[in-house]
Formats: sequence, C-alpha cells, structure tokens
Amino acid sequence: MLKKAAIQKIFDLAAQLMEKGTLVAPIREDAGYNFREISDAKRVDLNFYNTLMSPKSAFFPQMEDFVRYNNNKSILDAKCVDLNLKPVFLFGVRPCDVKSFEIMDIHFSGTGAVDPYWKKRRDNTTIFGYAFDVNIPADGTDFYSTLKIGAADPEGSDIFMIKKDNDLLLKAITPKGENLLSSLSLLTDASADEQKHFDKTVAAGRSFKTRFMSVDPNSIAKKFEDLFHKTEFWEKVSDACLSCGVCTFVCPTCYCFDICDETLFSQGVRRRVWDACMFTDFTLEASGHNPRTKVYQRLRQKICHKYSFHIRKYGVISCVGCGRCTRSCPVNIDIFSIVEAAMKL
Ligand code: SF4
Ligand code: SF4
Repeated sequence: MLKKAAIQKIFDLAAQLMEKGTLVAPIREDAGYNFREISDAKRVDLNFYNTLMSPKSAFFPQMEDFVRYNNNKSILDAKCVDLNLKPVFLFGVRPCDVKSFEIMDIHFSGTGAVDPYWKKRRDNTTIFGYAFDVNIPADGTDFYSTLKIGAADPEGSDIFMIKKDNDLLLKAITPKGENLLSSLSLLTDASADEQKHFDKTVAAGRSFKTRFMSVDPNSIAKKFEDLFHKTEFWEKVSDACLSCGVCTFVCPTCYCFDICDETLFSQGVRRRVWDACMFTDFTLEASGHNPRTKVYQRLRQKICHKYSFHIRKYGVISCVGCGRCTRSCPVNIDIFSIVEAAMKL
C-alpha cells in the first residue's frame, strides 16, 4: 500500500497521529534537531539531515524510574512503576537508526532475559522510517554504506517515507503499518508513477555511497584482537580524548546503564540512567580498584566492543555508521578513521 500527503499537510498528519497516541518526531532546537514528544503538531519538522541524539531514547530513556518506595515502610510496600503506554508513533527515523533498533533488540530482548520496559515500548511503537535524500551527498561523517545499510532501506520500519517534490510518499511495510495507514483519512492513494519513484529511490539508496571501506566482520574482529595489546596504537588514537562520553550518549547502539537508588527524605526511587564506558569511574570497583584508569583503555574498550567483541558474541558489528560520534566529539575523534587505520596495520 503506497499513500501520499502533501508536505504542507504534514502538521495535519501529525495532528491525526496525536489523536491516536503519542507522537515522537524531530523538532528544531537551538543546537540542532532532536526527537521529542510532540505537544504542538506545528513543531514537527522533516527538514533535518539527522538528529543530534539518536532516537534510542524512545525505547531506552536516559533516565527511567523502576520502583518507588518509602524508607519508613516495608520493602513489600514498594511499587513498580507502571508504563501505561498509549500507542507511540516514532516519526522520521533514518534507515541507519532503524537498523540500530535491531542491534539493540539483541541486548534488551534477544538473549533470553527480556527487558520488559524496552519490549513494551518496542511492541507499542509504530516506526515511520524516512529516507535520506539520495540526490544530495551524504554528510562527510556518515559511513552507513560501509555497514551495508542503504540511504532508503525500508526494512525494519512499519511505514517508510520518501519525499518526492512537494509530497511525502508513505508505504506500509508491516501489517501494523498497513492498519495505521488505512486509518489516516488525510492520505490519498499514490499513482503508479509515484510507486515507480518510490522503488527507484529505494534502489538508488542501496548504491548510494557514504564514506566507504570494505569491512568483513570476522576479519575486523580478529584485527582488533591482534591489536588489543598494541598500546602505542591506542595511545595515539586516544591522545586528544577528554573522556566526556558524548560519543556514547549520541550513539544509537550504545546501551550501557547504571541502576541507582535516590532518596529524598523518606521517599526513594530506584532508577536506570545511561552510563558510558568512556567515563573514568565506569569500571571503578567497590574495592577501589579500577581496571581502566587510562583514557586509551576506555577508548579501546568502546571500539573493540563494537568492532570485535560484539561480532564474536552476536555475529554483527555494533555500529550503524550514523556518524554522530564523530560529529559530536569535541576533539574530532573519528571511529571510521580508527577502524580504517587498524585495517591497514
Ligand atoms: S559508533 Fe558512532 S557511527 Fe557507529 S553507530 Fe555509534 S554514533 Fe553511529
Ligand atoms: S566524544 Fe570524543 S572526547 Fe568525548 S569521550 Fe568520545 S572520543 Fe573522547
């Protein structure tokens, strides 16, 4: 099913989705674009290249309360925080970010122990993927084609959107997407020519080039195993690193978190907060011992986790080449260049 809406009707489309549930979509903010829960349909803005933060927080919020309790009462009176979700529409997700959800599913629901918070949100969300414009060059930091992700891959989305002149084409990819599309009265049927344009764009997206190198997952996993103890390599590539952790917070496939208790007077809460292997105290043990006190050890961990350990354990690279870590790094550390340099050794 291929439908369309005039771009100028995008606010009406957003308003229709808001009547059915919670809309999370890109909006323009001072620092750039970000996905936010929409309360004013007129703020939805599809004129973005990609967002500063990845959309992972739609399923894995930066801070999330699990349990509330009162210190003066029995632990048996502690209350689990109920999600009580309305249907969520995650609107305008780029194909590389859609791919990241599949990688994150491995950790939150694919290894036997299911994270109910992640799973409920995933099941409750309809993903509107959104193609990059294949007629303009990719941002210089992107390298998703290296990881075999196309600029207009519909796979993983429930509905996939491609902009054509002044229209937005929307194709249902899953039954969930099909049900939703057929309920949106604002949409009209697309023509045969528009169907051709859609298919042509998906094909063009598959041959669209970002920064590219040929990466075989098993070879790169082995390469980083061999390089693990080459301290001079890691010291050189991490020389400027400030351990700020920004690269991990913006990354769609970084999922480290901490669980902590916070109390104010007698009221307590147990919550999950994002954490990062780039932080100095991430591996600080209760004894005071820290196995990764040096910056190079922490950057090595991040790169080897994505490009070696993750492949050995789950068979896939834990990176989608979105380029956010490079764009956001205050000292221009570039994961693509580090992988490229490693491959040449
Ligand atoms: S490591 Fe960098 S390029 Fe890879 S997914 Fe994370 S932010 Fe994107
Ligand atoms: S964003 Fe750059 S400086 Fe900050 S921790 Fe990551 S690599 Fe280091």
